[in-house]
Amino acid sequence: MSSPVHYVTVSIPADEIIGYLWADDTTVDLIHRSASSSDAYEAGAEWYRKAQDARERGLAPLGVLTLLSREPGAGPVTGATGVDAVKDLARTVTPEDDRRLLDQLDRDNAAAWRELGDAYDALTDEDRTITWGGGRTSARGVTHVPFPRYSEPLKRVVRALSGVGAVTPEHRWADNPLPEPAPDGRLSPADAVRAATTIVRGEHFSDGTIAQAVGNGLLHAVVTALRAWYAEQRATAPGVCRFCGGSPAAHVAFHAHRGLVVFFGSRRTDGPMCLTCGLAVYRAYTTHTLCMGWWSPLSLFVFAPLTLVRNLLAVRTVKRLPAPGPGTLGPRYDPGVPVHRRPRAYVALVPALWVLFMVVTGLTGLTGGA
Ligand SMILES: [Zn+2]
Repeated sequence: MSSPVHYVTVSIPADEIIGYLWADDTTVDLIHRSASSSDAYEAGAEWYRKAQDARERGLAPLGVLTLLSREPGAGPVTGATGVDAVKDLARTVTPEDDRRLLDQLDRDNAAAWRELGDAYDALTDEDRTITWGGGRTSARGVTHVPFPRYSEPLKRVVRALSGVGAVTPEHRWADNPLPEPAPDGRLSPADAVRAATTIVRGEHFSDGTIAQAVGNGLLHAVVTALRAWYAEQRATAPGVCRFCGGSPAAHVAFHAHRGLVVFFGSRRTDGPMCLTCGLAVYRAYTTHTLCMGWWSPLSLFVFAPLTLVRNLLAVRTVKRLPAPGPGTLGPRYDPGVPVHRRPRAYVALVPALWVLFMVVTGLTGLTGGA
């Protein structure tokens, strides 16, 4: 029969739970919260030392808890059903833990994010088929330990993960389980950081960790989640153009409508845009709508005119911006020539003339009948 277990929750001033000091009849120990920050982890060592000091002075385990529970940052002495229950508590992951990991990502390093995307897109099936070297015994009887042979393009992806900050000491990978993607294959951005850290750091301790992540799709889930996170950051970052990274930029939305009877649909592009990129999107979408937007009854009378008016209103916002400073996300869109100098725009004359014709014949029909 095991002895009763009690614990005290210990926290750092920033309100983060470090872990749990627990005691039974014979032992006092600290269980770190596995998702805690490195600051909290270090502060835990201090609590552990205090507990051991008190124990050495001859205090009984429960007495140590009672003593330390009076210190700032400690909670009351609480009963638990066993050590496993305290360990369960220590596995708690808070939204604040997620946020701290996302803070490790270098959202301002556009070049590093572009490199991650480029490096991953450049992977071939050959890069994903990992062969192993070693494993043979030489003439002198020395057996070489098997090791995975990673291709240069795959190593480039691994470097790029570090480049964006996804491999971080803030995640103590050895103390935490490897995140698993949801049934649809997705990972949360914070879990992508956890998995990236475990995959890359883990490889140094156990050969083949990267190979396994390539094989079971975890690496794919990691890169996909990180890229989606960055795209979202970029689309919502105020004042920076989502296309070229230049500023100033204004948040606008442009629409293109295609009103063919069969191919019916519209496209929307929104986010902060600079003068140059905004003008480019405006001209392309408006020309497309003028050319393709009319060819169904609803489109002719509702969607095409609505789209054109919305674009006109949006481009007024963009045109009020000064010319953007240098971009950081790569080349800018070329705005090209104004809409009225694009021949495709004049396709719009056909429905316009047709409507005019119907109106005129309708009117003359009316007068003729009178
Ligand atoms: Zn731009």
